[in-house]
Amino acid sequence: MICDAHIHVGEFFGGLYFTPEEIAAWARQNNIGKFLFFQTARSGRYPSAYARFLEDCAALKSLAPKAAIPALWLKISAFKHIEKYRPRDFAALKLHPQVEKNLTDTKIEFAIKTAADLNMPLIVHTSFDEYCSCLRIGKICEHAKHSAVILAHGRPFAECVKILQNSENIYADTAYMPPEEAEKFAESGVAGKLIFGSDFPIDRHFFPNEDANLRYKNFMERMRKILPPAAMFENFNKLFNPR
Ligand SMILES: [Zn+2]
Repeated sequence: MICDAHIHVGEFFGGLYFTPEEIAAWARQNNIGKFLFFQTARSGRYPSAYARFLEDCAALKSLAPKAAIPALWLKISAFKHIEKYRPRDFAALKLHPQVEKNLTDTKIEFAIKTAADLNMPLIVHTSFDEYCSCLRIGKICEHAKHSAVILAHGRPFAECVKILQNSENIYADTAYMPPEEAEKFAESGVAGKLIFGSDFPIDRHFFPNEDANLRYKNFMERMRKILPPAAMFENFNKLFNPR
């Protein structure tokens, strides 16, 4: 069985819309046991996008009832009013620092604690910039060892390896992680702290002339050879409880 912890539904840039039907068909074709899905991060119009996400969630859960597990991407300002968003209907919360302005360490720590109080993991997008590098997020997690934090994309990779070696409650997902980098995580003994995730079907935006399904199959097959069962499905089953 394979579980994928990083799937998107909804609107993306350039007029793209990732529909529940597209995701359900992908899950069937690839024999995906379970997958965690959430919105794509865009800066504006959160409230209307959220209403639409709830509709997509309901549709996807009825198309793929055993496999589809929703997570909730929230803007940082919404963490203060978390109850409004019915967080217990979701298996994880997600924060995307790249689309937030003036996101202080204190605010990130608040988001981690909010997820911990709900007994669910917080997924945090990481990138190569200092503002949302895994070094910054990893440091904040040292003060907030309450629950699991998942560094989406695990960037920058070498620093992420060290963080995973030194902290029990931090994981990283493999969305857009080059397989050569995943091999380095494996060589460093921390592949068991990775969670397989793909960012499907965002390839439709970044590689418009290629077949996103075929790209997915190639990526998944390569990762399956590198990563242990912990990364391919066990961590997923341990961390994300279906609601
Ligand atoms: Zn993503």
